[in-house]
This record gives sequence, structure tokens and C-alpha cells, in this order.
Amino acid sequence: QPDGMSPLDVRDVTVRFAGLTALDGVSFAVAPGTVHAVIGPNGAGKSTFFNVLSGVYQATSGSVRFGDTELTALPPHRVAALGVARTFQNIALSRHLPVLDNLMLGRHRLTRAGFVSSGLRLPWARREWSRHRERVIEIADFVGLADRLATPVGLLPYGVQKRVELARALCMEPRLLLLDEPVAGMNGGERLDMAELIIAVRESLGISILLVEHDMGMVMRLADRVTVLDFGRRIADGTPEEVQADPQVIRAYLGA
Ligand code: ADP
Ligand code: MG
Repeated sequence: QPDGMSPLDVRDVTVRFAGLTALDGVSFAVAPGTVHAVIGPNGAGKSTFFNVLSGVYQATSGSVRFGDTELTALPPHRVAALGVARTFQNIALSRHLPVLDNLMLGRHRLTRAGFVSSGLRLPWARREWSRHRERVIEIADFVGLADRLATPVGLLPYGVQKRVELARALCMEPRLLLLDEPVAGMNGGERLDMAELIIAVRESLGISILLVEHDMGMVMRLADRVTVLDFGRRIADGTPEEVQADPQVIRAYLGA
């Protein structure tokens, strides 16, 4: 179990692909109960970093500690089981299934019986299923999806689909939530709603959040702390105000 100190401690992480260093000795820590943003121009290494954290890519060197546990050698399902949930830059939901089913699938790692394979014939399995269902409905309610539970995800507006994705990650009862560009493709109103929701997740559920984001306004509104990457290197780390005023950050964003 995590030690209650830092949910995440990233030390000197390097990722090399054939001939290309996507991350170059990146270090920073996510403090418990905070929203931490990782920003940077296209190709800076943000998605690579998320893939390392969630076990999709293996770091070439360096360490990522989640509480007392070293994450770098673990496969994705083990990382998820420790309480690190993520959303994807491109929506990864079952479009033909109703919202409720998508959320129940998100809960899968917490169940003893697979919802599908058990057939729900056994009384304990049925009890377990209704217990999970109740919690899933509670989460849907929190995220503002209570009246969409029966709707196939593919029929929902894009902004609402992104909420379903967030809700599905919450259904894993994570301690750390990784959000990859949570407002990408959204209109202004949807962006504000999502920002509010992310703040509510931190404040009401006490979940630490690490987000990759392009939208500077969003980062300024949401983040307690910001790490800036450029060409795989950490070029700044501080409060939103500090990094916004940093000459190196300004240069990276202007491409000068
Ligand atoms: P960002 O998300 O900040 O835009 P990425 O992490 O996607 O940046 O990419 C960082 C660099 O690593 C880019 O140059 C990209 O082309 C490269 N890259 C990412 N994934 C792979 C991969 N699987 N194989 C080879 N190169 C990759
Ligand atoms: Mg990316």
C-alpha cells in the first residue's frame, strides 16, 4: 500500500525509442491531494510519460514510485490494480453499450466474479453485482450522468462521452487519476464543466490528479503545480504563475 507521502515520485526517467529520446531524465513529484499538470509542445513526451506511468511503455531507465511501490516494471493491469486509473486522449469506450455497462466494465478489477462469466446464477455473485451497481450509479450521479445510464455511449455528445470516460476511471476507485488532454475537442462550455468536475473529484473524493493538457487556460485554472516538458526534457516546474512567467517556457511555446 502507498505510504501516504507522495502519491507519485518520478526520478530521472528516460525513454528511448530507436534513435529518439522521447523522455530525457525527467524528475518531479505529485503531492497528495493535488492537481498536477504536465504541459509542453507537441512531441514533448507527454503521452510517452503517461504510457510509462500506466505500464504501457517500459522506461529505459529511472524510477517511478507510487507510495512504496516501484511502477516501472509492472504491466498495465498491475498498475491499475494498485489504484492508478487513466483516461485516453482518444475515447476508448464501447460505443454500442449503454453508459451503465461501460461503467460496470470499468469496475471489473474490483470484482471476484467476472460479471459476464459468472452468469449471475450464484446468490453471492448476484449480491456482489448489485453492490457494485449501486456504487457505479452513485459515481454516475456525481459526474452528472444519472439520466444517461441507459443511453448507448455512441449516441451521446462528445463532451458527455468524455464524462463517461472519467466516470469509468473513477469506478476503479483510484488513488491517482491520469487524464490525457481531458478537454481536447471540447467547446468552451464543455471545458468549464469538465474543469469544475476535475476540481470536484479532487475535493470531494480526495483523488490526486495528474493531467496532460494543451489548453493553457485550463492548466492555469486547475493545476496546483505544473511540470513543463520540451523535447523530452523538464524545462520548468512550479506553480502555474511561476511557469507562465518562465522565459524558457515562453520560448518553448513560441517555438523560438
Ligand atoms: P506529446 O504527447 O507530448 O505530443 P509524445 O510522447 O507522443 O509527445 O511523443 C514524444 C516523441 O516520441 C515524439 O517524437 C514521438 O514521435 C516519439 N514517439 C512516441 N511514441 C513512440 C513510439 N511508440 N515509437 C517511436 N517513437 C515514438
Ligand atoms: Mg500526446
